Amino acid sequence: MRRRCLLGAAALAAFAPAVRAQAARFAEEDLRHAEALRAAGLADTEAWRLLEGITTEVGARPAGSAAEARAAQWAVAAFTRLGLSNVRAEAVPLKIWQRGPGSARLVAPAPHPLVMAALGNSVGTPPGGLEAAIAWYPDFAALKADGSDKAKGRIVFIDQKTERTKDGSGYGRAVGARFSGAVEAAKRGAVALAIRSIGTDRDRVAHTGAMGYDISVPRIPAFAVSVPDAELVARLVARGETPRLAVAFETRSDVEATTHNVIAEVPGTDLAHEIVAIGAHLDSWDLGQGAVDDGAGIAIVGAAAAQIARAGRRPRRTIRVVLWGNEENGFDGARAYGDRYGAVPHQLVAESDFGAGRLWRFSSRVQAAALPLADAIGQVLAPLGIERGDNAGGAGPDAALLMRRHKWPAMLLFQDGSNYFDVHHTENDTLEKVDPAPLPQNVAAWAVMAWLAAQSPLPFGPPPL
Ligand code: ZN
Ligand code: ZN
Repeated sequence: MRRRCLLGAAALAAFAPAVRAQAARFAEEDLRHAEALRAAGLADTEAWRLLEGITTEVGARPAGSAAEARAAQWAVAAFTRLGLSNVRAEAVPLKIWQRGPGSARLVAPAPHPLVMAALGNSVGTPPGGLEAAIAWYPDFAALKADGSDKAKGRIVFIDQKTERTKDGSGYGRAVGARFSGAVEAAKRGAVALAIRSIGTDRDRVAHTGAMGYDISVPRIPAFAVSVPDAELVARLVARGETPRLAVAFETRSDVEATTHNVIAEVPGTDLAHEIVAIGAHLDSWDLGQGAVDDGAGIAIVGAAAAQIARAGRRPRRTIRVVLWGNEENGFDGARAYGDRYGAVPHQLVAESDFGAGRLWRFSSRVQAAALPLADAIGQVLAPLGIERGDNAGGAGPDAALLMRRHKWPAMLLFQDGSNYFDVHHTENDTLEKVDPAPLPQNVAAWAVMAWLAAQSPLPFGPPPL
């Protein structure tokens, strides 16, 4: 997968007069330094130390909570200890959603308690809860295709399954049931939405995550049940039963609060005003400890910047670690970052937000003239077992928002996410679920990518969007 870099100068001249003189290339000393960073990264122990730190000293840190404020303080202290510069937490006002107590149970044909979690942004049930028969759908497409009045006055139950995939595409195909299920159910007169958790595990835990409403239909309460509970419901439906379900939960919305973007830098030299942003998100859901989502990302990009700072050669451009606030439920941190720094040239925006698995692919989104440079980065990453993807890649959720809004170039390092959705957004997202073995490979790759982006003889942008 290194076809582009095999093009000779003559071929490039024929295809691209603008770069006829010579394909852009990195200085040899910068490539050698990248290789040294790669070797040092493979011996990294800091990422695990950071991940152990944030999960042990803080744990769950929903945006705008006291815990998230402590996480910001923790990150400022950690990045300062690692020798990074200009370390700061930038406050971002926002309105947050909060979970209250809740429960759900089957009341007929036989009583069973259900493990549930309200979906983020959901309204609560009426005081005392509600009870209704369910209208069962095997997946979200079946609900959207239903033109009957089957759902009227009932609790819509979507049994959407999440396929286990390496690249997260199974989650992508399933998550619409969580995000938009309540709107489709309300359009059909439903009183509440229940979904099978969007997750690949078989554990008795419910997966939360953001959902949305539409002003054209009533806001109905929306919640997920664990996969084993969804299986129980499906068995009853297969027997010809129409299960009745009771649910009660409380939530609060539009609570005034403050989240934070935490920033730390390795200052640049002759191009210091240009930014290479490598990020993760500071917040997590309120369940679990936010270990894979996204403590691992915080640990990886923090340790990568620390490797660069420790190696002693200052980059040309400023390498900036950014931990965005409230990725999970509104992207307030990323938006505020764009409002504040949108006019500052960004050479790169990238985010690690897919757990702690081994990296296997590298994609870019850079201008055509910079493609030989992206390919050269790919060549330094190749010995880490990372293949070169295409030049139409994304950037991680906050980074993708910024890439599109500000036309900033992006790169994406793909982790093996085969197990990520076993614990994602659940009480099981805890430290001991994380295999520490792939972390150094991640640190090595992020250090290589950030360093070479900072040393590039060309701007990476504007990217093809
Ligand atoms: Zn995340
Ligand atoms: Zn998440």
